[in-house]
Amino acid sequence: MKNSNKQNGTFVISLDFELLWGVHDHETKESFRQQILGARTAVDTMLKLFDRHQIHATWGIVGMLMAESKEELQSYFPTLKPQYEKAALSSYGYMDDVGADEQNDEFHYAHSLIKKIQEYPNQEIASHTFSHYYCKQPGQTKETFEADLYAAQRIAKEKFGVELKSLILPRNHFVGDYIESACKAGFCVVRGNPKSFAYNKSSMLARVFRFVDTYIGICGKKTFVMKADANIQAVDVKASTLFRKYNTRLAFLEKYKVAHIKREMKYAAKNGEVYHLWWHPHNVGENTALCMAQLGEIFAYYQTLQEKYGFDSKTMYEAAEEIRNENSDVM
Ligand SMILES: [Zn+2]
Repeated sequence: MKNSNKQNGTFVISLDFELLWGVHDHETKESFRQQILGARTAVDTMLKLFDRHQIHATWGIVGMLMAESKEELQSYFPTLKPQYEKAALSSYGYMDDVGADEQNDEFHYAHSLIKKIQEYPNQEIASHTFSHYYCKQPGQTKETFEADLYAAQRIAKEKFGVELKSLILPRNHFVGDYIESACKAGFCVVRGNPKSFAYNKSSMLARVFRFVDTYIGICGKKTFVMKADANIQAVDVKASTLFRKYNTRLAFLEKYKVAHIKREMKYAAKNGEVYHLWWHPHNVGENTALCMAQLGEIFAYYQTLQEKYGFDSKTMYEAAEEIRNENSDVM
């Protein structure tokens, strides 16, 4: 039975959609071929699955994927570009690898896929920055960050008629004082990190903790109560858990991964908290059928929790709006 005295829990899903733009500093078209081509097919499969289970999802899309040709892509480049000390991180340095259009280059363009996302109900088009921007990298500045976000807004508006509201920063590099810049550029919702040290450090130890956490949960609870902070204009809809790729070498662990996600969902549903699951389409670009079976199980469980506890699927923007409305009711 639904407890009417308590706030209902919220199930948030977000995707970091970037194709090769998010990985070109350590992968190539050849080394990442299967994941990218698989990701393109998985977008379609996921949309159908979301629709079947009435899942609301937020798609954080790299703005560069939105162009239809190389010429058009370059016309959206901001004048101020990040000059990272580690030059390999800059998407602007890979123009020689970019083909003429989506038909000729499935690694750097996704206009047709984004159109498809727009055809489905309850899907939010959000931003993963214009150029897959790295906020914490030496060499970039607040000015180049702002210029990147304005470019993201411009291409989304002109190509898809969308005013972007939610921002997912690459590698979840969440920099406190950049929030003001994000707000100025129209972003009122951001995705921060879980509180545990393992999700706020990039050391090897933190990575090991994150890996183990996926299967048995050693980093404490990652569900949370969302609050709008009057001093910060943007609402932080923190990430809870990364839905990791199917690990064929350690396949026996896979059932623990799904069981852990379901435990966290149940906790959020029963306690009126938020649970935010996220991944990249390329994480499910290999072993796609196995991944979809897992997601299908997770979404069927969501529907059980919805009936029992009123657990509700929301996009990042919808989840943030609910908090804002509650706050304005109180005032
Ligand atoms: Zn990314």
